[in-house]
Amino acid sequence: MPERLDFDAAIVGGGPAGLAAAVNLARALRSVLVFDRPQPGRSDYPQVNHNYLGFPEGMPARELCERGTAQAKRYGARFCDSEVVAIQRVPGGFMLEGSGGEGCRARGVLLATGVRDNWTRFPGFEAFVGRSLHWCIVCDGYEMQGKRVVVAGNDDEAATTALQMHRFTPDVTLVTNDGALGLTPEAADQLARRQIPLVIGRIDHGRARDGEPGMLASLRLEDGRELPAEHLFSHQGATPQTALARSLGLELSGGGYIKGDIEQRTSEPFVYAAGDCTRLFAHQIVTAAHEGATAAQTLNYDLFQADEAHAATGARDA
Ligand SMILES: Cc1cc2nc3c(=O)[nH]c(=O)nc-3n(C[C@H](O)[C@H](O)[C@H](O)COP(=O)(O)OP(=O)(O)OC[C@H]3O[C@@H](n4cnc5c(N)ncnc54)[C@H](O)[C@@H]3O)c2cc1C
Repeated sequence: MPERLDFDAAIVGGGPAGLAAAVNLARALRSVLVFDRPQPGRSDYPQVNHNYLGFPEGMPARELCERGTAQAKRYGARFCDSEVVAIQRVPGGFMLEGSGGEGCRARGVLLATGVRDNWTRFPGFEAFVGRSLHWCIVCDGYEMQGKRVVVAGNDDEAATTALQMHRFTPDVTLVTNDGALGLTPEAADQLARRQIPLVIGRIDHGRARDGEPGMLASLRLEDGRELPAEHLFSHQGATPQTALARSLGLELSGGGYIKGDIEQRTSEPFVYAAGDCTRLFAHQIVTAAHEGATAAQTLNYDLFQADEAHAATGARDA
């Protein structure tokens, strides 16, 4: 990794949003550095994406990112496996500091930092993520046809997910994963109308199928009850990764996501945002890639305009 080199653009986050931006910026002949920290983002689990256009057999998220990285490198983008721990405005751009002491100066910054899921936790739950532990009905609902599914969550949105899941399989149970009921009586009535069992209790163990690591057979509750479950949908929200956005003083939405316009500009000049960190809904590879590509076009155009303005000033002063 180069020490303190200058780049046109620094991208924080090497998921689909950051990679789509890197490909497009590099192809616009902009020098680009992508920082991606070792902790997993959403695209670092073993899930196979079946709804991303152009891959009829499905595309593993990790493979998509490996291909995206190779594509960006092919056009000259550079990568640094490091967490960005600080960004400061400096004359002409920004200074980014990596956790290992590395860093760079860049004229523009794109935040594509994603979110961290508040997974339903039990010992060893990580081995199930992306195989039989999910969060997104848009992503994985189709594959649930005829399966035994448990939804874990304690609000009306979790109840809505259980109701929607009922379109895919009649074998759905909602577990609050909490000691007390947080759903409204109306939501509980809706579940009852569809004969979806509502269980108040906390999950403390997941048992895998024999010889199939990562594939659930059942869940156990703290009080000892055992629930057969082939798949678990964790409906417990996510935390947007916005520490850097806050430190730059960016405007955030009520939910803590980075606010931006439709061209992915944030409230601060030459700072852009893309992907799951920008909104609560439509957390998908396709939307992340779309926003990353849009941010790249905008950043490239803003740099072009800044250079034109600078050249015009220089010509006037000469
Ligand atoms: C189990 C599972 C199944 C899914 N299934 C599907 C599916 O079938 N179809 C679909 O379209 N979507 C699916 N998704 C959602 C999809 O993966 C996300 O919407 C997508 O990955 C978002 O892309 P992103 O680039 O915004 O964020 P991410 O992919 O999360 O990437 C963000 C990256 O930024 C890095 N980062 C954060 N902060 C820093 C920092 N300070 N310094 C350096 N790096 C940093 C993170 O480590 C991460 O690598 C699934 C997600 C999960 C978890």
